[in-house]
Amino acid sequence: MTLSERPHIVEHTTCRVCGHGPLVPVLSLGEQYAVGFWERADETGIQAPLDLVFCDPAAGGCALLQLRHTLDHDLLYRRYWYRSAISTTMVEALRDVARAVEERAGLRPGDVVVDIGCNDGTLLRQYTIQGLDKIGFEPSNLWTLAKQPGAQIIHDYFRAGPFVALMGKRRARAITSIAMFYDLEDPNAFVRDICTCLAPDGLWVVQMNYLGLMLDNATFDNISHEHLEYYSLLAMEHLLRRHGLEVTDVELNDVNGGSFRLYISRSGRGVGSVPGAAERVAQLRAHERAAGLHRLETFRAFEWRIQEIRRQVREILQAERSAGHRVYIYGASTRGLVVLQYMGVTSELVPLAVDKNPDKTGRYIAGTGIRVISLDEYRANPPDLLWVLPYQFRAEIMRQEAEYLRRGGRMLFAIPKVEVVGAAELKAWEAS
Ligand SMILES: [Zn+2]
Repeated sequence: MTLSERPHIVEHTTCRVCGHGPLVPVLSLGEQYAVGFWERADETGIQAPLDLVFCDPAAGGCALLQLRHTLDHDLLYRRYWYRSAISTTMVEALRDVARAVEERAGLRPGDVVVDIGCNDGTLLRQYTIQGLDKIGFEPSNLWTLAKQPGAQIIHDYFRAGPFVALMGKRRARAITSIAMFYDLEDPNAFVRDICTCLAPDGLWVVQMNYLGLMLDNATFDNISHEHLEYYSLLAMEHLLRRHGLEVTDVELNDVNGGSFRLYISRSGRGVGSVPGAAERVAQLRAHERAAGLHRLETFRAFEWRIQEIRRQVREILQAERSAGHRVYIYGASTRGLVVLQYMGVTSELVPLAVDKNPDKTGRYIAGTGIRVISLDEYRANPPDLLWVLPYQFRAEIMRQEAEYLRRGGRMLFAIPKVEVVGAAELKAWEAS
């Protein structure tokens, strides 16, 4: 099908933030299915190109890396599989966000806090200050799980209108938007709504995948139809300046394979800043310039690197098949599916995928014929090699599957580099 025959796909020729054009193509992960899991092997849903384009500063752009296409949002979000509470690593990461917000915004009982894309409500549950007025926005089916005492959950995308309708003249002392800001078709509209809802002394915390770490660690599984933008600090500051906002501090972390957390305040207010913060922001800005995050060639080199990862992984999978070994996928995350599709991996090379989320058990990964089985089913009959797609939970998974490794099982990790580990690595890792 040509794009014109697919009305749910919009192609962009100009930048979503600054309007500059034309955008320069830098990387294509091919045609990819938009929804990951289906009840039958022959169900696939719609497919769309996953192409990255760059708003080139050398030609007057704002340095934002973004997808060329946008899919109809409802296709992606009305049924969303990832639940924060299912991973202890993720719960701890969200608790850390809540702590930082309590301290840096100086929250007090009676303050209004908002979490945008609140998922199953895990972040809102981490606040320790009593008597906060909590508001969550969640467009997916997870919203019912977010309900909790003291919170009003709005089953929709974030907009200022519903907030104002609920709160009248009251404004938010803190707004968090975790792992969602890169999903926005119109970032300017979203930031305008933030400005409406945020108190003059309010703090906005954005945490999301960080382009600098994606390039450093080859975490190309960040790229998906949901993630429309891939922000550097430089590109983010360009956007915030348009709205009278500024970054008061920035921290890097390894959440979701490499994220940054931005503390954002109205310009000149300095909310969220701590000693050393201004220096940290200036340092990261300088580091991005040195690393070439504003230059086209940097993204060409990235493309070459992930092509090499694909070559190595396919070589390993084919060698395992030739040796008569069974390979299963471990952790059928939405991110991992991008990797499978980019590498052209189907049930011929990997027949089954193990996942602990019972909602996925028995379903098929779109376009691959790979069926999802439960942890129990895998443990009853373990394979020779487990390809762990959620490499960011490597420590947690090696600990959980220590018995499998001790009995001679091996694990394949493709990111940040291709590695096969077994009992020896487990032992070394446990001793360290
Ligand atoms: Zn731009």
